[in-house]
Amino acid sequence: MSLYLDQKVIQKDRIPKMSIAILAIIAVFSIYVVGYDQGQLFSLVQGTEAFDTMWIHEFTHDIRHASGFPCH
Ligand SMILES: [Zn+2]
Repeated sequence: MSLYLDQKVIQKDRIPKMSIAILAIIAVFSIYVVGYDQGQLFSLVQGTEAFDTMWIHEFTHDIRHASGFPCH
């Protein structure tokens, strides 16, 4: 009889893959909002006026420049 017990290490993923997928979607959407939106999102409710006012562009203007996206 052996004094050593057979031990098995079972390691499970501690981060669920679904949370990684959700965070990736949020990240891509955030990059779109900060870097590329010129009124497209608000045009869904505001119409063509959203392309003139560009509210999201104005709200994220400093973040856009700080992260390296060119706009003017
Ligand atoms: Zn700018």
